[in-house]
Amino acid sequence: MRFASLGSGSEGNGLVVEGNGARPCRILLDCGFTLKETERRMARLGLAPQTLTALVVTHEHGDHISGVFKLARRYQLPVWMTFGTARGLEPGTTEGVELNYCEPGRAFAIKGLEVLPYAVPHDAREPVQYVFSDGARRLAVLTDAGSPTTHIIGMLDGCHALVLECNHDPELLRDSSYPPSLKLRIGGAFGHLANDVAAEILSRIDRKHLSCIVAAHLSRTNNTPALARAALAGVLGCAGDEVLVADQERGWDWTPV
Ligand SMILES: [Zn+2]
Ligand SMILES: [Zn+2]
Repeated sequence: MRFASLGSGSEGNGLVVEGNGARPCRILLDCGFTLKETERRMARLGLAPQTLTALVVTHEHGDHISGVFKLARRYQLPVWMTFGTARGLEPGTTEGVELNYCEPGRAFAIKGLEVLPYAVPHDAREPVQYVFSDGARRLAVLTDAGSPTTHIIGMLDGCHALVLECNHDPELLRDSSYPPSLKLRIGGAFGHLANDVAAEILSRIDRKHLSCIVAAHLSRTNNTPALARAALAGVLGCAGDEVLVADQERGWDWTPV
């Protein structure tokens, strides 16, 4: 299994997960880019959109879903999301698209890849994050979560690779020019993970198999790659440059799980 990102942050997200079993499978987790931009970013990874197997969605916020249905319609791709996420969409959004519902805690398979949605506290209808497994190795993804829960820790335990939100530095957020209501939302229990909270999560999970970590969904205004790196490297006891950091424009390149 390997994964790469089309871009990560509040201006758009898209993570490609590729299984290399007997039945090749390529999933795009979220798509927050225009059709043209998605095609451009996929080409950078050597991918044609028609080679995708399916689109899987975390929640209905624009930076995760704005490009999903245009892409699905254009390339006839099936889409997976929770019922609550689908309910959060404008009427007619899903027209002409094969829509499949998934449930938090219930794994499903797309070709040879197991996909496990799990519930997270975030201010959307029925948000989930996902753990992908090819039977031997597990890739866990956690972004857009306001606070750590015992359930989240259990889902991330023992993963081989982890994409972990490091949205903001609490002091940069506090001192930013964002309106107070937005600061409260981002820093709240249903908002986004701060660097120190991401570090706390990392410190609590079973890391015996963890060989790759990517800090993701960084705020351009309220964080820096160096701060995110330092927070996670502090837990891992490694050098900051061993922590990959996702970029809004470039995402990150193919990485083995
Ligand atoms: Zn987001
Ligand atoms: Zn969100």
